[in-house]
Amino acid sequence: MIQLYIPLNFLGVIYREIKQSLTDLDKMFTLMEREREVDDAPGAQPLQVKDGHVKFSHVNFAYEPARPILHDVSFEIPAGKTVAVVGPSGSGKSTLARLLYRFYDVNSGAISIDGQDIRTVKQGSVREAIGIVPQDTVLFNDTVAYNIAYGRTGATREQIEAAAKAARIHDFIVSTPKGYDTAVGERGLKLSGGEKQRVAIARTLLKNPPIMIFDEATSALDSANERAIQAELQGVARNKTALVIAHRLSTVVEAHQILVMEQGRIVERGTHAELLALGGRYASMWQLQQNSADADVEVA
Ligand code: ATP
Repeated sequence: MIQLYIPLNFLGVIYREIKQSLTDLDKMFTLMEREREVDDAPGAQPLQVKDGHVKFSHVNFAYEPARPILHDVSFEIPAGKTVAVVGPSGSGKSTLARLLYRFYDVNSGAISIDGQDIRTVKQGSVREAIGIVPQDTVLFNDTVAYNIAYGRTGATREQIEAAAKAARIHDFIVSTPKGYDTAVGERGLKLSGGEKQRVAIARTLLKNPPIMIFDEATSALDSANERAIQAELQGVARNKTALVIAHRLSTVVEAHQILVMEQGRIVERGTHAELLALGGRYASMWQLQQNSADADVEVA
């Protein structure tokens, strides 16, 4: 019996491994399919990252030809600086992030990283240079450790724990039944929105890319959690080139530049102080927030 059990058990392990890999692949494809793939130019070379200077020059973009979304968008994120984007829902904020990650190519104008048009280099190399903390992190049906290490093959347990500590999720992880080996995802332990974002922050810390994109969660985290996550994000973004898609004005006060978008155009730009002094749209949004009982009123 035991002779039969061992191979069968072994087959079971292999079956589970394959099934898990297929689930992961499936999930990856579902993620990717949501966004149309772009092709590398013939002979495309890898991106040569120097310090991570990002530049949008006169970018026009439409998902469907009949409906232009971005109109003549130009801005720069100097290496190591943070640019935050605010504006009403549907104004095109997340589209900027999708174009920088090269899920789509611009219709006209250009996006460059360290002087290289991202259409001319290998898209994989662009994605390697960028870390994304999305609004809603998808977790794989695997352990917490696997989920944090995802994107950095060969990470040691020490490196994983260091990233989790920096993202303030370590204490939570060690309080779960199997610690870093606890299964999460649909079939495992369910994590809250804030915990999932912290896993994404830890994952990004471990990847340690020169450029970061933060798509702030629109879903309501409680204020204390929200502020804690903002503080962690600021820590992660220090000395990195960062594009922050902000849904709350409290997040953007420290940004080196704030872009205010409306219907796919940048209608105001400047620091928090400059935009308040301008007395325009940003100033009214800020005023609205100050008058609100809840200082974290959503602006998008
Ligand atoms: P929110 O604050 O609600 O996240 P946003 O400012 O980030 O909004 P985007 O997600 O950039 O806005 O969307 C800009 C416009 O593009 C919207 O009108 C949206 O309907 C449209 N859009 C977004 N994704 C697609 C897509 N895959 N196909 C077609 N239209 C899209």
